[in-house]
Amino acid sequence: MSNALGFFYGVSGHKINFQKSSIIGVGVCQEEIGRLAYFIGCKAQNLPFKYLGIPIGGSAKRVSFWEPVFNKFKKHFSGWKAILFSIGGTLTLIKSVLGSLGNYFLSIYRMPKSVVKTLESLRCSVFWGGSLNIRKIHWINWNTALASKKVGGLGIGSLNVLNFSLLYKWRWRGINYRDSLWAQVILDIHGKECFYNMSAKSNGNWNNIVAANKHVHTMGIRSGSVQEQLHSMVGLLPRDLDNSDDRWRISMINHFVWRLLRNGIPTNVNLFGKGVDISTVRCNLCDSGIDDTSHLFRHCPFTCDPRSKINPWVHHNIPDEDPKDKLNWYKGLHLTNFQRQVLEAIMLMWWWHIWKERNNGFHNGHHTSVDDTFTSIVSLSFLWVSNRDWSILLIGMNGK
Ligand SMILES: [Zn+2]
Repeated sequence: MSNALGFFYGVSGHKINFQKSSIIGVGVCQEEIGRLAYFIGCKAQNLPFKYLGIPIGGSAKRVSFWEPVFNKFKKHFSGWKAILFSIGGTLTLIKSVLGSLGNYFLSIYRMPKSVVKTLESLRCSVFWGGSLNIRKIHWINWNTALASKKVGGLGIGSLNVLNFSLLYKWRWRGINYRDSLWAQVILDIHGKECFYNMSAKSNGNWNNIVAANKHVHTMGIRSGSVQEQLHSMVGLLPRDLDNSDDRWRISMINHFVWRLLRNGIPTNVNLFGKGVDISTVRCNLCDSGIDDTSHLFRHCPFTCDPRSKINPWVHHNIPDEDPKDKLNWYKGLHLTNFQRQVLEAIMLMWWWHIWKERNNGFHNGHHTSVDDTFTSIVSLSFLWVSNRDWSILLIGMNGK
């Protein structure tokens, strides 16, 4: 064996440092390994061991194998960190927490269903303001939040899909970089067509990757769109945190409207529906209606006052309808794209202010003057429109 490694040095120029190397036996008793290690001058090791942070030789089907990933999650989501973040920060945290370690694991091993479930429920809990041990109300189905913005989600992306995409990438790499050393090894073991017909000649991790790839095909992802799939996958990978206050505010409004359009905001009526013990469902502001979405956003005189200022400002009579129907209304108007955007922005900002006004009124009896509210709506909608890449919500407006 030393001779073989000596030849390897001669051919490649890579010298093996025996003191830093270990010998591991497969199907050989440990005594024999110890004897050989002594002979060669290296260490004797057992399976499983870690290489570049990844366990080698363990079974990815066991939950205990995923312990390092769980620990990483727990470290990020425990204590004050997650709780203190604004909604934008929480979203970024949820998307990025896996970091390189998770991506390493997920690009090599298929996550068992129970692991997916545990990790997703953790992310979901943090998203709704809870933590490892504190569970808060979950207002919208987690799968809806995971879905892409095109179909009305928040584009968080599921870990399951991320896992499949990363595993699928091996096929893509195998076909595109057939000459690379790793691909040659796989081709030698599993046959010349193994990247095309996705086959494995033996059990082992490649077999698991093949199984995951086949599953991707039955789910409907075809080779032609692999590139596109990979692109969308890149979108799921960690991004840098941005600390701008405005950005947080905008994503907070985004998140709020996303919930509003799905009737997932904590009005008294909705809280009651979720089984929360509350003293009254009446509107605390006017005392003449009930605290539900329809009343707050259409009828309550306290929150709907700015209408008298907004309508003349935009030269339109914004109809007295539920938020969702309001969004459909302007589609029938003859407007340029820009005008449409501005109008949309104004409506969103208005709703945000209604909700703020309601909470201020409920919790500390504070009432903002119509003038102040109107000024704030104007400046925020300007901010929104002048930063078009922030207006991410507009894509998912249909409320699907
Ligand atoms: Zn009211």
